[in-house]
Amino acid sequence: MRIEERLYTLRYKRDEQPHLMVKDQELCKRCNEEYGSPCIGVCPANVYSFVKDRLVVSYENCVECGACKIVCPFNNIIWKYPRYGLGIALRYG
Ligand code: SF4
Ligand code: SF4
Repeated sequence: MRIEERLYTLRYKRDEQPHLMVKDQELCKRCNEEYGSPCIGVCPANVYSFVKDRLVVSYENCVECGACKIVCPFNNIIWKYPRYGLGIALRYG
């Protein structure tokens, strides 16, 4: 099963308050030049993208795997779980 098909089986309850944020956009520009923005490559849900030199974080699509926080060379991501159990819902079977 392709990753897109797997993601389609997930259910989300959106938290209006972002649980992911970038601390410093200037660091992201530097990271893009020096390291190729590893958060974009590692995220299975396409949460990160550059739009006009700004790193956009589409936190609503996050599957809460934690990979972006680990690979960020500048520890530049504020990473929390969504509040009140909101966010992703995993189904078994
Ligand atoms: S890996 Fe970190 S510093 Fe680099 S672009 Fe992503 S959030 Fe910004
Ligand atoms: S926690 Fe995982 S799914 Fe969420 S933004 Fe980071 S890499 Fe993407």
